[in-house]
Amino acid sequence: MTIEIINTGSELLLGRVLNTHQQWLCRRLADEGHDVVRQLAVPDDSASIEGAVRESLGRADWVITTGGLGPTSDDLTRERVANLLGRTLVPDPAVAAQVRNFFESRGRPVPARTFVETLIPTGAQVLPNRHGTAPGLALKVSPNPFRAAGQTSWLVLLPGPPRELQPMFRDEVLPLLHRESPPGHGCQTRTLRTSGLGESLLEEALAGPLAPLVTKGLELGFCAKIGEVEVRFAGRGASAPELLAEAETITRSVIGDCIFGSGDDLLEAVVVRELTKARRTLVLAESCTGGFLSHRVTNVPGASAVLLAGFVTYANLVKETVLGVDSAVLVSQGAVSEPVARQMAEGARRLTGADYALSVTGVAGPGGGSEAKPVGTAFIGLAGPEGTTVSRQLNPFDRETFKFATSQQALELLRRRLLNLSQP
Ligand code: ATP
Ligand code: MG
Repeated sequence: MTIEIINTGSELLLGRVLNTHQQWLCRRLADEGHDVVRQLAVPDDSASIEGAVRESLGRADWVITTGGLGPTSDDLTRERVANLLGRTLVPDPAVAAQVRNFFESRGRPVPARTFVETLIPTGAQVLPNRHGTAPGLALKVSPNPFRAAGQTSWLVLLPGPPRELQPMFRDEVLPLLHRESPPGHGCQTRTLRTSGLGESLLEEALAGPLAPLVTKGLELGFCAKIGEVEVRFAGRGASAPELLAEAETITRSVIGDCIFGSGDDLLEAVVVRELTKARRTLVLAESCTGGFLSHRVTNVPGASAVLLAGFVTYANLVKETVLGVDSAVLVSQGAVSEPVARQMAEGARRLTGADYALSVTGVAGPGGGSEAKPVGTAFIGLAGPEGTTVSRQLNPFDRETFKFATSQQALELLRRRLLNLSQP
């Protein structure tokens, strides 16, 4: 069973809107074991939309379009699809009542142009829109004039706004898809998230041990991100679950220490979970990350059980007066230095009585670098009951990426300490 996705919208091709539907839909479909084989974005013009739908219907079992179901003159999808398939657009009284109710319940007059949203191509199934007015549509194209005789396709039209598209996809499209085309043995995937080893070293470590499974059909993929590498396994057919489980077992035995989670696990959530389990508390003392580390930790539900405080001590004077960093050390070693990171962590720990303290000081750039401490240099301190360690890192990126990479290394330092693992 093959699926193609067509995202309509000139704003996507002008770079004004990020095509998040592409990722969101592919991810949901992949999770359900369905194969998306092609994805295309087209501008809001009749020829592009009609041409793209015709071509996709010539190949795929399911074609999903997004956008262009609204009331404005650039919303063409419904009309172009009806034209392509030779279906008449007929006003649907039930949809008209829903549209009226949507506006009336908000005390607003019904704009005349929303009438087009009540037009349904003959034979189409209406997919109710609980968060907007334009319904989605599902059409069984049978016979499909663009494919070999006897082949059928489904064409699904979804609205553009994410808050309308996403619930409609979950509540209406997935059940329809499962009813009409049960997933069978599509592609299954498993992702392990790692930190501490680069992608080439990971591949080197895993290639040998996983080779026998690769010959049995395991697909192995690596995706390098800032501060982490995802190891992805994919398999097809009835034996896929076993193959993936075996691949995971082998991978854990080879690089177990580097694996901080799987699927959508976040490093900050893993750290909060481990601290909670150990009934330990944390304090953060940040300079160059400007509170980003605190932001990540406080994004985790339940962070209040472990986080006591986050200090953003940007100026030297505040490092001194608040955290008790020695002014002589600040002058002789500079704010970006091993002893300052150490004293920031120890000072924050002393001040709050937290079990662990993480500190960060560095040169985010673009200015301020030197030969000894180039732009991207960061010192990360970790103070705890077992003593204090400082790790030196080089993250020569733009400021935001620098913050993420540095905070990732800080969290990884703590994760390894909490789990008694060697530091990378
Ligand atoms: P509306 O009734 O709002 O006009 P519509 O079904 O006609 O909805 P569009 O006009 O194509 O949809 O898009 C509406 C808005 O939805 C866009 O301005 C954009 O913000 C968002 N959107 C559309 N397509 C995408 C996409 N592929 N990825 C992310 N956002 C999108
Ligand atoms: Mg629109």
